[in-house]
Amino acid sequence: MHSEHSRQSETGAAPHVTILIPAYNEAGNVISLLQDLSATLASLPEYAFTVLFVDDGSTDETVTLLEQAACTDPRIGVIELSRNFGKEMALTAGLQALKCDAAIIMDADLQHPPHYIPEMLCKWRQGFEVVSTRRVKIDEQPLARRLGSQLFYTLLNSISEFRMEPGTTDFRLLDRVSIEALQQFTERNRLFRGLIDWMGFKRATIDFEAPARHAGTARYSYSRLFRLALNSFMAFSLMPLKLAGYIGLFVIVVFGGLLGFMLGDKFLGSNAFGFSNIAFVIVTNVIMNGIVLSCIGLVALYIGHIHTEVIGRPLYLIRKRVGRAIHDGKPEYS
Ligand code: UDP
Ligand code: MG
Repeated sequence: MHSEHSRQSETGAAPHVTILIPAYNEAGNVISLLQDLSATLASLPEYAFTVLFVDDGSTDETVTLLEQAACTDPRIGVIELSRNFGKEMALTAGLQALKCDAAIIMDADLQHPPHYIPEMLCKWRQGFEVVSTRRVKIDEQPLARRLGSQLFYTLLNSISEFRMEPGTTDFRLLDRVSIEALQQFTERNRLFRGLIDWMGFKRATIDFEAPARHAGTARYSYSRLFRLALNSFMAFSLMPLKLAGYIGLFVIVVFGGLLGFMLGDKFLGSNAFGFSNIAFVIVTNVIMNGIVLSCIGLVALYIGHIHTEVIGRPLYLIRKRVGRAIHDGKPEYS
């Protein structure tokens, strides 16, 4: 048997699992979602489930439907945001409210099918602290979006310090340790998936087939996705900042060499190439531009330090502390 250290509540009661669902104008989906969910959850009597919806400022019937559901089923809770803040913020609001042994994050549009939940829980019971899912079949994803997502992962992985698994989605299970770790993050521009990958912990990935959206249309426009991608680059790598500096250095080296050659030819050689005065002016100018660019790179290094300080990401994360010698006064799972 696997070491089920701490996967059970200390009292031996059923582990408490919360399903966290951000919803924005999902009136066409919540009823079917709840039906599917309750069928799946009913088949897992060994867990105590709660379902936490975060309404992200919906303007349709979503809130009414969710409130009705919460009235009839005590396992359902709803957090209503004052306006639309975007999915990442809705997830953050939900995350801060979590008090459970594990949480499963899923979309409200049935693109994250509840019937994968047992498999995720199974991985969790085996000791994994983050269970991610990877889409193997994507219906109705336009080519441009698929290419864009590929480009995003290739670029990000080539320049950032940790690896972000391509194709993984927000459909994830988080163990209590990883939830508590995530609750420490205070940065404002956040991409959940990125942060979770940054955290480390014992992770497993399962493949799943994503069906088309049940009702309504996807809310992430290209411009919004582009902004999200740009934010992730800025959050996970300083490379874009340093790029100017590298270009500057390159220009200085290449054109400095050229200028040296031209001067040598004019004053030491036989003036065989006969470089005109205007050529000297141009090359000197390009070198000057190179110097300016490399100075920008230098400034970027300082900005990079400020950036790291300002986002205030935890310096390290601890999985657990073992042994009597560590008297931090708190049992690991209280
Ligand atoms: N969502 C949200 N706030 C938003 C946009 C979306 O809470 O501003 C929710 C939405 O209700 C759904 C999930 O985030 O549960 C994924 O949204 P969507 O299906 O539009 O995105 P995609 O599937 O294209 O990633
Ligand atoms: Mg969707």
